[in-house]
Amino acid sequence: MQNGILLQAFYWDYPADGRLYRRLKEEATSLAEIGISAVWMPPAGKGTSQEDVGYGNYDYWDLGEFDAKGSVRTKYGTRAELEEAITALHEAGISVYADMVFNHKVGADESEVFQAIMVDQNDRNKDISVPHDIEAWTKFTFPERAGKYSDFVWRYYHFSGVDYDKLTGTNAIYRIVGDGKYWAEDTDEEKGNYDYLLGADIDHNHPEVIEELKSVSQFMIEEMKYDGFRFDALKHISQSFIDELTDFIIEKRPGFYFVGEYWHDSKPRMEHYLDKTSYTVDLFDVPLHFNLYEASKREDFDLRTIFQDTLVHANPMKAVTFVDNHDSQTGQSLSSWIEPWFREIAYAIILFRKDGYPCLFLGDLIGIPEAEYDGMADTLVNMCTIRGQNAYGEQDNYFVTPTKIGWVRRGDDEHTPLVVLISSADADEERMFVGEAEAGQTYVDRSGKNEPITIDEAGYGIFTVAPRSVTYWTRE
Ligand code: CA
Repeated sequence: MQNGILLQAFYWDYPADGRLYRRLKEEATSLAEIGISAVWMPPAGKGTSQEDVGYGNYDYWDLGEFDAKGSVRTKYGTRAELEEAITALHEAGISVYADMVFNHKVGADESEVFQAIMVDQNDRNKDISVPHDIEAWTKFTFPERAGKYSDFVWRYYHFSGVDYDKLTGTNAIYRIVGDGKYWAEDTDEEKGNYDYLLGADIDHNHPEVIEELKSVSQFMIEEMKYDGFRFDALKHISQSFIDELTDFIIEKRPGFYFVGEYWHDSKPRMEHYLDKTSYTVDLFDVPLHFNLYEASKREDFDLRTIFQDTLVHANPMKAVTFVDNHDSQTGQSLSSWIEPWFREIAYAIILFRKDGYPCLFLGDLIGIPEAEYDGMADTLVNMCTIRGQNAYGEQDNYFVTPTKIGWVRRGDDEHTPLVVLISSADADEERMFVGEAEAGQTYVDRSGKNEPITIDEAGYGIFTVAPRSVTYWTRE
């Protein structure tokens, strides 16, 4: 979809009031009106408790339907409310993506005794014990669901590792022993082998596991009507499994959308991943996020390098650009929150340029009262509207000095130009070309900071920007 915008519809400390789905249903039309074309929902499956954000994945098949882990509903509501939200979003013309937590499971119903080897925390290829019996939480029987939708019972041999031995009360990383069993070799190379992240680590090499996860995917697509998946923690999941799963889905649903979280500040590593998954999975542009973060933190940051080593520069068609997310929030696992003064600039960089599929963060749209953050609703609604009205056509860059960059979207037959100017230092100005056809037109600063200007006879205007800010200009 041209000029689409993805909304991440949750943040980490969103209230566990069971009302998110109902709110999304109520807001569907207004989200569509500001230009939201797709919504990334939080993980739908039952987590370890009603407060679980969803990444403490317990049961894929319980989407708020069974009285397990303390309640029928999840943090976000019941399955019926989820279905109503999806229907309402679809009716508003918005696609809905499910957050799939395929790396691990947490909160087993029973513990089991089996053979395992303790490995080095920092080099998971290094064994530091002989095979011996441990007792760990690996048996998932889902007594409340009682076999509805799937009678699959997870056992220790469906996992590759755990982090706790109940027999000795030891916290350590244990690799589960079995015939031909090892960590998945095609995961990230950090810590020797980064297959293991947390909880009971799923063995994606086990044929029964592959079948079960295909069934789960099919259910989410056919029964729940999702239009895409956001894969959690791809760095820790076998690439060949993801490749097989996406092939399986695309065969049934050509055009089904995939985006993955591959949290790595390395463009080559991400390009390698795109290649290994046959370019079926888009990735969040983590390197761009870190460039935006650095630019917001360091006065000596050269804005002309903002796209250096980013995915959106290397593979514009595969990059989902974002400012922050639930994990980069202050205090969370990947904390790297972009400074307040730079947030409007960062959104201009993802919303007004030609490349990338921008993802808006709910915390910026409605604020995060739990973190005493008011958000920037009016600014973002305005910017999304401008993206829909004016961010079209060729893009002329003016990457002028370390503290001043800008660009002009030249427009097309149906849309007039858009001019963007950013300064990370003092007030500044730049003479930019918008087109001969614009001669004599008045251009207004839609960010509301500066006075209107007039385009000269040659099609140029002298655009201004306030200190440490961004201005964006369109024809009056
Ligand atoms: Ca794993």
